[in-house]
Amino acid sequence: MSISEEIAELLYPSAPNPDGIIAQYPPRSFSGEEIVTRFAPSPTGFVHIGSVYIAQIARNIARQSGGVFILRIEDTDQERKLERGIEEIVECLLRFGLVPDEGFYTIDPLQERGRYASYQQSQRRSIYQSFARLLVARGLAYPSFQTEEELQALREEQKLTKSNIGYYGPWARDRELSLAQVQEKLAANTPFVIRTRAPYPNNEKVVVQDAIRGRLEIPGNDTDHILLKSDGLPTYHFAVVIDDVLMGVNLVLRGDEWLGTLPLHVQLYEAFGFTQPVFAHIAPIGKKEGATKRKLSKRKDPEANVAYYFEKGYPTEAILAYLLNIADSSFEEWRLQNPRMPIADYPLKLGNMSDSIALFDLVKLNSVSRETIAAYSTEKIVQHILQWSEEFAPHIAQWIQADQEYACQALNIGRDDTPPRKDLTVWSDVEVTHGFFFDKCFAKSVADQGYLFPDLADADMLAILDYCQQEVATLHEVEKDTWVQNMKVYAQEHGYALTPQEYKRNPGQYKGTFGQFMGVYRTTLTNKASSPDLYQIICIMGTERVTSRIKQAQEWLRAKQVNSAGG
Ligand code: GLU
Repeated sequence: MSISEEIAELLYPSAPNPDGIIAQYPPRSFSGEEIVTRFAPSPTGFVHIGSVYIAQIARNIARQSGGVFILRIEDTDQERKLERGIEEIVECLLRFGLVPDEGFYTIDPLQERGRYASYQQSQRRSIYQSFARLLVARGLAYPSFQTEEELQALREEQKLTKSNIGYYGPWARDRELSLAQVQEKLAANTPFVIRTRAPYPNNEKVVVQDAIRGRLEIPGNDTDHILLKSDGLPTYHFAVVIDDVLMGVNLVLRGDEWLGTLPLHVQLYEAFGFTQPVFAHIAPIGKKEGATKRKLSKRKDPEANVAYYFEKGYPTEAILAYLLNIADSSFEEWRLQNPRMPIADYPLKLGNMSDSIALFDLVKLNSVSRETIAAYSTEKIVQHILQWSEEFAPHIAQWIQADQEYACQALNIGRDDTPPRKDLTVWSDVEVTHGFFFDKCFAKSVADQGYLFPDLADADMLAILDYCQQEVATLHEVEKDTWVQNMKVYAQEHGYALTPQEYKRNPGQYKGTFGQFMGVYRTTLTNKASSPDLYQIICIMGTERVTSRIKQAQEWLRAKQVNSAGG
């Protein structure tokens, strides 16, 4: 046995043989065209919209090739791990319909599926130890017992001597520990990490053909990076290589923050003699700040968090479409040509993706969202609003549940006009745009702000409402044009100018304008200065509701008159 082998045996006497592990994870039986890729988040913070960006691309590419989309949970950072971190990730994927073929796919209970389980790194400890042991035995990795203080002292010394900071070559003090020294440290239970033994100096260049960035030539790694931490769990660099190989991943799609350590990953593939997957390093999504672009920040931008979109009520389909749009600008053209095809069928080309920040613009997302909703049937809209409001605004769910038929008619208003009304950008808009249809919401508006009537005399408004009351009784007999005509005739006969110009020419002669006249009716029914077509509103509300609102408004106006007379 060589010294390295003896050290390996000392460190991990019971680690299973890697060959046995490889046998448990046999290669996938594919024809060769299928793409196996993964989304590999760490459950250490809220789910970032950038994760959905990457996950969607991974899922679509895998599915279109007949391959596999894996969800792998990279939870090796036990300190930063969040309580419900995994559930939140899975829930987010499910909401977006990005259901993993392998890995966790349900949350209640949390369940994983797939031949290559477990897909949760903290459950794979013994696997990483076996492979680490193999590297140690081959002299390609070694245990290091340096304490935090010793490492700090090393950095100070490197600063003083103007050397590069890090654990490498001549500075890597534990590289040449003897068997006896290792034995002694282990006997004293000294915590240790496993480091890779990198060539130093390393004048080699690593050449990788990145699917997005093309040929990359990067200096080879010369740092003895940590592979296994003192808690026995791997670092990202080690786990990612082992898992991607064992799980048969042939396309590594991930954020470009990992480009810097790609040479280390390549080194590990070579050390084990593993076949390298295709790499695709995706630039982050970001926004403009002044003249520069910057990444969406977890701290500064609320829209970085997917929860923002769920709360506002964006249709997930709109977010996915917009994300595809910024990933690959040819998507928009394809969508116009294939309006009926599911967007998941868009054959995204990684080569079309940019290697710099993809701009994510809420204004554009809003417009995509508005168009997405405009294309839905009214029944679908009501179902979505119901689902959204049950979670985020239960009072709205109650209005809808009280009379779904009425809710459908209300939400349909103006959607068949030319051009159609597109009132909703997100589901949460419904309270402002259509809330007046629902008695409770309308009553709240009046209670909060009073009636927002136009500037006319109270007595005149009472008279207008008397007329409206008469009109509504016969509404079913008249078409819209006749109704408008009747209103105009009455208005004109009772001292209202039909146009603002007419009014301006002779203000003293009129009580107000026809616009104000109609404004009285509009306010009575909606308490808003502008609204969808009033005739349609009246038809949807029906005689009974309209009559009751007219009465309420009249009572309010009378009470106001009494008060001001009294005051
Ligand atoms: N856990 C890594 C991250 O969250 C995954 C990177 C990868 O996909 O390999 O950034």
